[in-house]
Amino acid sequence: MPFSKLGLSAPILQAIAEQGYTKPTAIQEKAIPIICKGKDIIAAAETGTGKTASFVLPILQHLKDAPEVRAKRIRALILTPTRELAIQVEANVRDYSKHLNLTSLAMYGGVDDEPQKAALIAGVDILVATPGRLLDMYTQRAIHFDEVEILVLDEADRMLDMGFIADINKIVEKLPEQRQNLLFSATISKQVRFLAKTILENASEITIKSKEDKPKINQWLIPVDKDQKSALLSQLMLQHQWPQALIFIETKRGAAKLVSQLEKRGIKAEAFHSGRSQAIREQLLADFKAGKLQYLVSTGVAARGIDIDNLYLVLNYDLPDQADDYVHRIGRTGRAGASGEAISFVSRDDFRSLCYIEKRLGEVILRKNIEGFEPRAEIPKSDLNWKPTKPQAKGRR
Ligand code: AMP
Repeated sequence: MPFSKLGLSAPILQAIAEQGYTKPTAIQEKAIPIICKGKDIIAAAETGTGKTASFVLPILQHLKDAPEVRAKRIRALILTPTRELAIQVEANVRDYSKHLNLTSLAMYGGVDDEPQKAALIAGVDILVATPGRLLDMYTQRAIHFDEVEILVLDEADRMLDMGFIADINKIVEKLPEQRQNLLFSATISKQVRFLAKTILENASEITIKSKEDKPKINQWLIPVDKDQKSALLSQLMLQHQWPQALIFIETKRGAAKLVSQLEKRGIKAEAFHSGRSQAIREQLLADFKAGKLQYLVSTGVAARGIDIDNLYLVLNYDLPDQADDYVHRIGRTGRAGASGEAISFVSRDDFRSLCYIEKRLGEVILRKNIEGFEPRAEIPKSDLNWKPTKPQAKGRR
């Protein structure tokens, strides 16, 4: 089905065409007509499926002819778990609304709130915000919610994981009762369903079953001892000369150390983590997206929501211990039908995490040993029916 059949107006269709989109993705085809009818939805869709446009386009369609918004008011509120995702989603809003007379703003913590307040004074049609900063602004009476017509919870599962439930409830309580609610989540867990129950009304449920929009990712892993990882990484970088790679590592300190180890071997990389200032993080992301930076060594903070087109390679220097994090990390590559590559370094200690990940994927990840780096501590054989012998220490996998 072409975009023109989805009931979107000419200026929106033009903006989509300028993005190079030729046809809607599965989630867009299903969600857009329902949202355009003003219904609530709960949708299971991961990043990389085109989910952002699936809620932004109908919002634009709904707001395009609305009268000018009043001072300190907003019409659509999109809540996201992280600043990076807020920035990303708002950039999408701007791209898709460039032929419309609508305003948008990304609001998040960790930066001076004055420019955000100043932008609000004029009124903003579409606000993309993280929950903490939004509540803070509300308390300061820098924003009023009486004109909100549409609420979007993006990556609801992630927001719950990050402990935003109380903030979300506080925000929802303050919104007008008459509104449209859209909830997007990579997985629809029990907790997400509970949240949906309290917020949505007669929601249509959308799940994308077809594989067509699923990223095609060539995943494999390299068994390696922990103390050999940085030598292995440098060897692979020098050997393969990957055009770009996003490298995930567990800790801030680990990121800084790896960057300096690489530097000693003549490889330039940058560390991206919550210990760096917001301005530096934004600059690094911009440079990385523009292709000016070849290697970004990042902690989990970059794992979700960041949309880097055609990212060449995701490398898990440390395997995440949450299976969902693995899925989101590798989702940075192979987006919207493009193919991508994801390599993970796996040590003996990671076996348990590996089992959870392979169980979640429903498939065993191909292992490739690299000559000279074969581990001394062997990793047991994968088993999709593996069950932990002891209960997990923490968290959900
Ligand atoms: P998202 O899942 O919203 O993060 O989108 C993932 C990527 O898919 C982004 O780079 C979008 O620009 C791109 N995208 C979204 N919709 C389409 C479409 N219909 N055709 C091609 N690419 C798209």
